[in-house]
Amino acid sequence: MSFSDKFELVCGVETHVEMATKTKIFCGCSTEFGGEQNTHVCPVCLGLPGVLPVLNKEVVNLAIKAGLALNCIIAEYSKFDRKNYYYPDLPKNYQTSQYDLPICKNGWLEINTPCGKKKIGITRVHMEEDAGKLVHSGETITTSKSSGVDYNRAGVPLLEIVSEPDLRSVDEVLAYLEELVQIMDYAGISDCRMEQGSVRFDVNVSLRPRGSSEFGTRTEIKNLNSFNSVRRCLEYESERQAELLLKGEKVEQETRTWDEGQGITLSLRSKEEAHDYRYFPEPDLVPIIIEREWVERIRASLSELPAAKRERLKSLGLSEYDAAVLTSSKAMADYFDEAFTFGVDAKTLANWIMGDLSALLKIDGCSFENSPVSPRQLAGLLNLIKDGTISGKIAKAVLEEIYKTGKDPEVIVKEKGLAQISDAGALEKIVEGVLAANTKSVEDYLAGKETALGYLVGQVMKATQGRANPGLVNKLLKEKLSR
Ligand code: ADP
Ligand code: MG
Ligand code: ZN
Repeated sequence: MSFSDKFELVCGVETHVEMATKTKIFCGCSTEFGGEQNTHVCPVCLGLPGVLPVLNKEVVNLAIKAGLALNCIIAEYSKFDRKNYYYPDLPKNYQTSQYDLPICKNGWLEINTPCGKKKIGITRVHMEEDAGKLVHSGETITTSKSSGVDYNRAGVPLLEIVSEPDLRSVDEVLAYLEELVQIMDYAGISDCRMEQGSVRFDVNVSLRPRGSSEFGTRTEIKNLNSFNSVRRCLEYESERQAELLLKGEKVEQETRTWDEGQGITLSLRSKEEAHDYRYFPEPDLVPIIIEREWVERIRASLSELPAAKRERLKSLGLSEYDAAVLTSSKAMADYFDEAFTFGVDAKTLANWIMGDLSALLKIDGCSFENSPVSPRQLAGLLNLIKDGTISGKIAKAVLEEIYKTGKDPEVIVKEKGLAQISDAGALEKIVEGVLAANTKSVEDYLAGKETALGYLVGQVMKATQGRANPGLVNKLLKEKLSR
């Protein structure tokens, strides 16, 4: 059954991203992922009595930057608040967060939809600290005999980005999340390592009859950590709500969790059980006054964002598709930009980056950031094709050799004698030899069988280990055969 004829999906997302600072938000402990348990901790992030937090200025810099990248209004006056609740991964029994005066609000980002571009509202962006992590001794929380807590992540700075309920389909939600994560990556707010849990989503889902202007009752599904889970979860949850509504039943306003294994959402707590977090201003931190010069300094340091980059690549003659693939990661886009400065054709370069080089990197799980083939070397290779020194086919082999040895393409071509034979005199002899040895094909060609020419070209290429200039071979063969 599909709900989409009767109902329209309404969705808003709260996204948490871990910020790319070296140290935590209120102490000097490292934010590095994967250290030995409870080694990146100190009295402050362990919440021991009598300690005082000191705000990491870089967190504020990045929060302002994120706000600017998302077209937000940056507050002149902002403060931290305590969000009070008890859970073992939260050593202070409150999370230092922001409540009524977030650092950024009223922004937007733009997504592509089948009906054109659409702006999705950003309600607010605020700073807060991450909690620690429960470590269960058994496989799961239900079968384990005991649990410990790793506080390495406690106090790692987070940005929470809340969208307006502007999203109307699963595809729109995914487009929004992908664009948001790309912007965070490009602006250097977060390293966006989804597999390490540095980006997490809470999705709010409701349905309404098509044509209705009022919102329906929503559920909130917490802590999704991949695009794929978001997609599956939304598909499941909208079907679940549609079935209830079609039966004349009500959707309960509640918090749910996504069970990845079963592929279903489960109720966590209802509205009645909702926490009262007793928010109040954090007395241990002074409010943040953000002067406009500060904002302007950060605006000036903001690098080109994905949407602008895509437009620029399109203006070089690349297709929408190529521009989207090349900008899908900042590292790949930067690689393209650097190689392009060496005066190569944009489309040819795009093809080599998205094709052969991507394939090589993928084998070893390398990224464009640490590509063994530098942008200069790739451009050098393409210039060797362009000036006729090597053929495209040989170039593929040379690329692999650069990848393996790190040597420059010019050096490899010289050492291995791969330069194309473009000397008509030298080729003529080989062509004559091939014609003499393949009289049957020559007869076929003269009898009108065009494909025989391809075979003869192939024989010349074979005789020269692929080094003959194919254009010249064609020309020479035709000349000799027309006599
Ligand atoms: P809370 O603080 O309880 O999480 P908010 O009002 O801050 O509630 O909203 C949280 C998220 O829920 C926002 O992203 C918002 O866009 C979204 N949202 C609000 N109402 C609805 C609705 N009826 N359907 C879907 N999403 C909604
Ligand atoms: Mg919420
Ligand atoms: Zn610490």
